[in-house]
Amino acid sequence: MVLGADLKPLLLIFPAAALLLAVALSLAAHGKSAPLPEPKPKAAESPRKTKPAHEQPPAAPAAPPKSPAESAPEPPPPPQPSPAELYQDCQTQLRSAGVEFEALDKITDGRCIVETAVALISVSTPSGKVELPGHPRTLCAFGLKFGRWIGETAAPIIAAHAGAALTAIDTGPGFECRARNGENSGKLSEHARGNAVDVVSFDLADRRRITVGDTGLDEQLAIALKGLRTSACGYFTTVLGPGSNEAHKNHLHFDLALHGKSDNYRICE
Ligand SMILES: [Zn+2]
Repeated sequence: MVLGADLKPLLLIFPAAALLLAVALSLAAHGKSAPLPEPKPKAAESPRKTKPAHEQPPAAPAAPPKSPAESAPEPPPPPQPSPAELYQDCQTQLRSAGVEFEALDKITDGRCIVETAVALISVSTPSGKVELPGHPRTLCAFGLKFGRWIGETAAPIIAAHAGAALTAIDTGPGFECRARNGENSGKLSEHARGNAVDVVSFDLADRRRITVGDTGLDEQLAIALKGLRTSACGYFTTVLGPGSNEAHKNHLHFDLALHGKSDNYRICE
């Protein structure tokens, strides 16, 4: 295409307009419209615009599934063994521990009542039978602890340190309806609950005797006595003896009292 001579001066003055005009004329000559840029794909057509269903967050927070406790009634608690069943079970354990005993059921003395009581007669141990000539009367549960202490610990300690078997332990009566420390009034002793025993002496197969509070014991027997006293702290919640107070200068006192709120708290003197 040739521009007319009369347009030339104008185009020199307005070069930009001339360029536009040239383009327009060129397009008109070819009968085409100017190519347009490819339209961007619509957002909705983007393959990653929507997440697969498994990545979709839930439309609304789903309520947590109800726990079985909410959706079903609680099952009833397992039946607790009755006192009579516990007493029978304790007697079975006494026999297993080698304890010879008499089942007394219920013993009373004035205001003191002990149910599930036993009288302890002897304990079979690896080093022979240990007699309990005082036949102390205690709660069955206490008798089981005392019997185990004798069989598992006291008899082996005597055999190891004294070189002779333990044959008998002289105890008090166990059950005594009295206040603490032998007083007539005040808080009841654990003896009044059948939950305590006093140990006075230990007899050996060679006729020697370890008497609690005896300061003239030979060295091996003194070591044995110390071991007996210390080991009892692993079985009983209270262990008292010479040095604890005047009331215990000539015997060891063992009981299973609950001190404070925790049964882990012990008095071991
Ligand atoms: Zn006592």
